[in-house]
Amino acid sequence: MTKRIVLADPRGFCAGVDRAILTVQTILKASGGADRADGLPPVYVRRQIVHNRHVVEDLASQGAVFVQELAEIPDEAAAAGVPIVFSAHGVSPSVKAEADARGLHVVDATCPLVSKVHREVLRFVREGYEIVYIGHRGHDEAVGVVGESPEHVHLIEHADDVDTLDFTPDTKLVLLTQTTLSIDETSGTIAALKARFPWIKEPPSSDICYATSNRQAAVKLVAEQSDCVVIVGSANSSNSVRLMEVAQEALAGRGTAHRVDDAAEMEESWFDGVGAVGVSSGASVPDALVAGVIDALKDRGFTEVSTVETIKENMHFVLPAELRKQPARA
Ligand code: SF4
Repeated sequence: MTKRIVLADPRGFCAGVDRAILTVQTILKASGGADRADGLPPVYVRRQIVHNRHVVEDLASQGAVFVQELAEIPDEAAAAGVPIVFSAHGVSPSVKAEADARGLHVVDATCPLVSKVHREVLRFVREGYEIVYIGHRGHDEAVGVVGESPEHVHLIEHADDVDTLDFTPDTKLVLLTQTTLSIDETSGTIAALKARFPWIKEPPSSDICYATSNRQAAVKLVAEQSDCVVIVGSANSSNSVRLMEVAQEALAGRGTAHRVDDAAEMEESWFDGVGAVGVSSGASVPDALVAGVIDALKDRGFTEVSTVETIKENMHFVLPAELRKQPARA
């Protein structure tokens, strides 16, 4: 029997990740890729620009300096106007206020689909709603969204958490979600919310983004045709971890779904007795890493490659306004 690889399409980079990486690359290119004459770096990036170790290491090798907090940026850099890029996951207003107070030159690479959820929070709070936000505690995106109005945004992670909420029927309630959740798990949480608070309102359109939905739909079909699935993506990438969970569910006990950062993390024992390996990747994963996994599987005898294509994506986001208006300062 020929051993097969079943590849999911769409997989990998989404429009928001593409834009965020291009934002940093554009600034690096404008600087010539070298440190400035004053010895300062060409660009700072707050947190991982996207949740992928390889992407971050690659941009760091080209001169970008990654910081956890704005306080790590020296005053000379602020005074010299060195750009600081906010990551695709967005930031809370307190971070923006800190940047303003220090006069930092901000280039905001927050994905427009994350910004949409921030705007929804502000609109619903203005209209007097309490917001139940389904998301992952501590994830950069969730921290940013909750930070818009911590007193009115109530974060829950799972259906079990619904019991911890307490609202009376005269409270205007709406639910919003993180963009990268599992569609199936979220439907369960929403059903539990509606059972407990039947008057809760949903946003005009789902907050789970197109890239998350499309990648989950494709990996489901792939897993149904496979005995094992390998998802390429980092452990802190919410959408990559969800892809692994969705694949595990769709494998229906026939095998295991694994997540790896790259081919080097695959283990020999995963493929014992396996006829077909499904492969997909999270929205922050460069296709070169998937190519590495495919090559490593071919070396293990999985020589036939087929693709399950569910939809053609043609989403594109323009660069942040700061880069369209003026060239980055060098
Ligand atoms: S996964 Fe969705 S919300 Fe996140 S960056 Fe990509 S398009 Fe934007």
